Amino acid sequence: MSVASGTRKRKRVAEDTPGQTKQAGQSALPHADLWYEDGNIILATDATLFKVHRSIISRQSGVLKTITLLSEQATQSVEGCPIARLPEDSDDVAQMLYGIYDNRIFMQNKPVSFTAVSAWFWMGTKYDIDYLRDEALSRILACYPDTLDCYDQIEESWSSRPPIVWTPSQDYDVALLAQAHSLLNILPVALYECCAGRPEELTIRLSFDALHTTDPSLPSFDPKILQRLFVGRAELVRQRMSESLCFLDGERSPRCRQSSCRLVSGYMVSLSHKAGVFTDNARTLDDQNDLIDVTCGAQSNLQACADCVNFFKKRHQDGRQKVWDNLRTIFRIPEEL
Ligand SMILES: [Zn+2]
Repeated sequence: MSVASGTRKRKRVAEDTPGQTKQAGQSALPHADLWYEDGNIILATDATLFKVHRSIISRQSGVLKTITLLSEQATQSVEGCPIARLPEDSDDVAQMLYGIYDNRIFMQNKPVSFTAVSAWFWMGTKYDIDYLRDEALSRILACYPDTLDCYDQIEESWSSRPPIVWTPSQDYDVALLAQAHSLLNILPVALYECCAGRPEELTIRLSFDALHTTDPSLPSFDPKILQRLFVGRAELVRQRMSESLCFLDGERSPRCRQSSCRLVSGYMVSLSHKAGVFTDNARTLDDQNDLIDVTCGAQSNLQACADCVNFFKKRHQDGRQKVWDNLRTIFRIPEEL
């Protein structure tokens, strides 16, 4: 695994040793909020200075503790406080410090941006702050779960307050992060969500065009992920027909004793054609129980027998589960990245 290679933005500051006191922050400005008058160390990025407390940041991270010790030899200072340089973006450092200084957001489970969650994960991993990394993972898993049962319960469990505020590039960003850190329980479902639309729609959503290639705020272009998406999407479309929608093949329950079920089953297939259910679509895991209920179940005038309705729903659910279990194969994800 290479954290450095798993960049989540097009341009990250080059890796160097945390705590170095090279010409740090010469043109950097104090952070508007994370500047404590009684602080006793300056954390400096290229653009921003943070005046914080050695004891507090050392308590949360052994890596930061080492940095504070190294800063005692620093030749530069601001307001009498030694400067310790950090190589990350200012926003990432700010998110880490907010996580250290103000964890009410964790206790109240307020929705936050993926930018914050991603920073917690990256910084929590690099600076060995377990609770920051765990909070990030917990929120990502709530949106990209590792079982079909949890996936089906997502919206109810959020209670209209998703733990991450959705953005158009989020599915791709999560896939980038999961691939970089070998989060093999998250990567398949993140890739699946990327396939919600057509591949060309994704590239437009991510602004992968010549005009935007130099914008550092956009996600990095990762050919490996895009290759997985193009191959995987075609397979999802195929398995939607062969697995998830297998109940639309006209077969009835072996226990069926109601001759009209044959007609009802045919009606369900015909209506599905008219509704465009068989068109090119990679939403292979979408629940189609409503379709069954409306065409031949409780909400229909042409009701099939209970055995057939249960038979259709079971085959549909079994097909969805099979696709879920196939996701890693569909996206060509090996045992280890
Ligand atoms: Zn029947």
